[in-house]
Amino acid sequence: MTRIEMKTPLVEMDGDEMTRIIWRLIKDELICPFVDLKAEYYDLGLENRDATDDQVTVEAAEATKRLGVAVKCATITPNAARVEEYGLKQMWKSPNGTIRAILDGTVFRAPIVVKGIDPYVRTWTKPITLARHAYGDVYKNAEMRIPGAGTVELVYTPADGGEEQRVLVHEYQDAGVAQGMHNLDASIEGFARASLSYALDTKQDIWFACKDTISKTYDHRFKDIFEEVYESEFRAQFEEAGIEYFYTLIDDAVARVMRSEGGFIWACKNYDGDVMSDMVSSAFGSLAMMTSVLVSPHGYWEYEAAHGTVQRHYYKHLEGQKTSTNSVATIFAWSGALRKRGELDGLDELVAFADKLEQATVETIEAGEMTGDLVAITSNPNARKLDTEDFIKAVASRISL
Ligand code: NAP
Ligand code: MG
Repeated sequence: MTRIEMKTPLVEMDGDEMTRIIWRLIKDELICPFVDLKAEYYDLGLENRDATDDQVTVEAAEATKRLGVAVKCATITPNAARVEEYGLKQMWKSPNGTIRAILDGTVFRAPIVVKGIDPYVRTWTKPITLARHAYGDVYKNAEMRIPGAGTVELVYTPADGGEEQRVLVHEYQDAGVAQGMHNLDASIEGFARASLSYALDTKQDIWFACKDTISKTYDHRFKDIFEEVYESEFRAQFEEAGIEYFYTLIDDAVARVMRSEGGFIWACKNYDGDVMSDMVSSAFGSLAMMTSVLVSPHGYWEYEAAHGTVQRHYYKHLEGQKTSTNSVATIFAWSGALRKRGELDGLDELVAFADKLEQATVETIEAGEMTGDLVAITSNPNARKLDTEDFIKAVASRISL
């Protein structure tokens, strides 16, 4: 059998624990038998991050800037317990944080929708993809307790010595609290551009919402920037693709999302995205069925699963016990990266393979063959629990070129 050729290599970022085991299985059973895989390999496993003083993470991100498309395995973000467990030189930063800072992107999370794993919201028949702005607002705020009567003001002192601006926050008669937050035009623009590009790329409508009626300067700036970026860079392409940009107030958006059938991108401000992504992902059934892609405004794409390294299963695996760990989100990270590589390089066969891999995965679950986490929530009465390896082999048996 001849395997599908690639042109440009993918950036492959290996990771830790159970997902590292799954990574190997996916490559051996689902990718390499069908695709002549070209990849630049970076080992982001914790031992190698420690050995390289975390340089490997930086190199992997730089490679993504050079090659454009990366696929990443889940990795341990060290805490005190991990420093001890692995005898680390120091408590290295979150690899995702390091990579995001270098690529400057927006993270999109989308559920994988399968018959028999039903969303808790009856009307949701298509995925809802959440795009969260990952800069500023309450996550970089300044706040204080106000002990008693007094005045709190916002003060802006221009760097060029221009005229100071002051706004009264509140004249306190008694004790209370106060908070100051900020955001930046450039960051909001990047967020808007990434969200609108992703909508165009996936041919889905996009919603953006905030509270501009109440926050007439701060939230209104977000609304204006989205509109400006849409009008000047996207309107014509959206009309051609037959998709829509829709703005509404955040509370109206929440009400509409609950009644919708899904199938759109929901761009959220930082706090809204934090809260709503947990609501949307749990309502769709399982974190193990959620993919995540970092899209940079400069045209870099990094695909991964939304879950972690599934440590508890890994320890069982190390003890020689069978595990039933769900590999679906990691499979979709690979298919997402291969499809994007195929699109960028004009390789129709590679794009078609990505589709087949996803179809085979969905068909396997719909046939009742699934891992334990899904057996526990499925409405399919004939569901059968497979172990980690057998699930991946069941998917492989359904792929033909
Ligand atoms: P986790 O790996 O997401 O797992 C938490 C629990 O969720 C598991 O114990 C398991 O429940 C269930 N689960 C998650 N993914 C599953 C899968 N694919 N199949 C079946 N069940 C799954 O989170 P964690 O245990 O809190 O974190 C472990 C490590 O992952 C940490 O070191 C953390 O730093 C790292 N992490 C990395 C990323 C990333 O790289 N993107 C994201 C989050 C966390 P049961 O045990 O009940 O079966
Ligand atoms: Mg959250």
